[in-house]
Amino acid sequence: MPIASAVRTTCPYCGVGCGVKAMLTPDGALIEGDPEHMASRGRLCVKGSALGETLSLDGRLLAPGIREGGTLRRASWDEALDTVASRFASIIAEHGPDAVALYVSGQLLTEDYYVANKFMKGYVGSANIDTNSRLCMSSAVAGHKRTFGEDLVPGCYEDFELADMIVLVGSNTAWCHPTLFQRMLKEKEARPSLRIVAIDPRRTATCDLVDLHLPVKAGTDVWLFNGLLSYLARTGAQDNAFVAAHTSGLDAALLEAGGCADIDFVARTCGVDPRLVMEFYEAFAATGKVVTAFSQGVNQSSSGTDKVNSIINCHLLTGRIGKPGMGPFSLTGQPNAMGGREVGGLANTLASHLDLDKPAHRDAVRSFWNAPRIADKAGLKAVDLFRAIEAGSVKAVWIMATNPVVSLPDADQVKRALQRCELVVVSDVVGTTDTATFGHVLLPALGWGEKDGTVTNSERCISRQRAFLPAPGEARADWQAICQVAQRMGFMGFDYGSVHEIFDEHARLSVWRNSDEELGRAFRLDALTNMDRAAYDALEPLQWPVQHDREGTPRLFGDGRFAHADGKARFIATAPRAPVHALSRAFPLALNTGRLRDQWHTMTRTGKSPRLAGHTPEPFVDLHPHDALLSGVRAGELARIKSQWGAMVARVTHSGGIARGAAFIPIHWNGQTASDARVGAVVNPEVDPVSGEPEFKHTPVRIEPF
Ligand code: SF4
Repeated sequence: MPIASAVRTTCPYCGVGCGVKAMLTPDGALIEGDPEHMASRGRLCVKGSALGETLSLDGRLLAPGIREGGTLRRASWDEALDTVASRFASIIAEHGPDAVALYVSGQLLTEDYYVANKFMKGYVGSANIDTNSRLCMSSAVAGHKRTFGEDLVPGCYEDFELADMIVLVGSNTAWCHPTLFQRMLKEKEARPSLRIVAIDPRRTATCDLVDLHLPVKAGTDVWLFNGLLSYLARTGAQDNAFVAAHTSGLDAALLEAGGCADIDFVARTCGVDPRLVMEFYEAFAATGKVVTAFSQGVNQSSSGTDKVNSIINCHLLTGRIGKPGMGPFSLTGQPNAMGGREVGGLANTLASHLDLDKPAHRDAVRSFWNAPRIADKAGLKAVDLFRAIEAGSVKAVWIMATNPVVSLPDADQVKRALQRCELVVVSDVVGTTDTATFGHVLLPALGWGEKDGTVTNSERCISRQRAFLPAPGEARADWQAICQVAQRMGFMGFDYGSVHEIFDEHARLSVWRNSDEELGRAFRLDALTNMDRAAYDALEPLQWPVQHDREGTPRLFGDGRFAHADGKARFIATAPRAPVHALSRAFPLALNTGRLRDQWHTMTRTGKSPRLAGHTPEPFVDLHPHDALLSGVRAGELARIKSQWGAMVARVTHSGGIARGAAFIPIHWNGQTASDARVGAVVNPEVDPVSGEPEFKHTPVRIEPF
């Protein structure tokens, strides 16, 4: 039954950003898809449709708390905020601004993110603010900036329906971006000639529904796409006019790709039948409208940025970018990974797509904020941040809406870091997470349905999240907590009365001094500046840049102009590199991690839904039967999974989708299960040298009977 009068909001889970209609009834919240939302057109996946089952207050943190002598006691907001502000101020006074840090999240709304970034970079004067988006998107950000000159996603979801070929690289789209995958399948049903290719070490639910699956070995994508670049150049698929007019750097990229000219070599290196490689190359060369979508299987790698660029190179060579039905497309993991990037939520970026390493950019942001100072160097990226906390150089950290004791690699190191940190502040909706147990100050945050603001999805679409539930207990919005600490520290410029005022400032910064050639950027919200509160409340989903009207911009680069100063895109020469840690006799299996269809992050919300939790009730390790035999374990038994960084216990399964020499464990379980099931404790902490994104997809492990 359609909901008659409902609040229109946005799903808080994956980066598709589906529109949701929510209405409170005496029996709970009714949830249905919003047919008017451009990203989803009424669709919801199983997680989105179960949102109503996740809204109970069980386990919610409803009042601030202060931990003293190991005991958590209730505190007033004033006492908690005074404590945070005075401890931050005294640590900064004694040790300098880089001795404090914020670690935030793609779960935050853009307005929360904006204020957090302004607080740290403009007023504390340190860029030590990083985000869990570092763990999923930062390689795409770095790849975009290298090639395009700015972190820009060229296309939109409609391109998946207009394409003649869709290549899904390192993406179990059927489970991780379900409604977008449904759009692809619907289009394929109507137009069977649409060809879908999956490139993934695992045979996932996505692979079962595509035309061609290349089960490449983890970490070999650059060999595959360098080989494709070389093949395209050799076989006349190059768009010479586009390359000459709109790109630079092709010679160096082709020279590097020439090392992968031999298809048998590529196939051997990738562990794939050469006939499959040839079939893929021929299809790519022969099809004009190709979308290549990539996700965590590409990004979460010690060569993630090069993987991104090796994909984009193939689109530049063929001129397949900026036009309907074609282009590289980064599928973001979280609901607001893109919004966080817009406000400079990464430790190496500045607000509004400006650059931390450019003096003119820093000066523009400082002057716009009327800030006393501005960070003048990149801060610590996530993995390095927690190392610095353990080493004692960062003495206070404020963690918001994320659970790094579960989700970061080498997660036991994160525990050690928080154990020795002088001040750990945790803002969350749940007060008992693995991370919250280390908090000296706990601040209750508003959750989905209670908070208000905007998010931006994978196709640059800004959508409103709207509240339809009352604030529970004493919970407050994260932006309010940040502003109240900032004001206690004597910082001006944090007296916002509402999220609308913050969004307006964010929009105005996007056009600040934009006529200055040195600052001009594609991220612009001209038509969204000076909106009144009613217009902000009624804001319909639309894709930035939003320059002259409220129509938005589905595609970028259609005119062949990119964001580098010379207007050209850069080919990037990508030298293939194996994952940092090779397999060995002691650790003979390559562990891959990822999401399940029915769970989200560390299950603090989806774990409340019986039907979601029932899909996969306990942690598992998926193995090839041959490796299980060699390891002395059998399907259904418990096994211990060990790496040189840590261990966990999970039940052995054989899905049939795992190649010999590999293993897969989902990311969702935490340390509060009977046996600590944080796969993060097993994952190696190596990162991509450009993006700082960890190598979640390749950790050498061994399996032992439990
Ligand atoms: Fe939510 Fe993603 Fe599912 Fe859409 S596809 S309902 S955004 S989890």
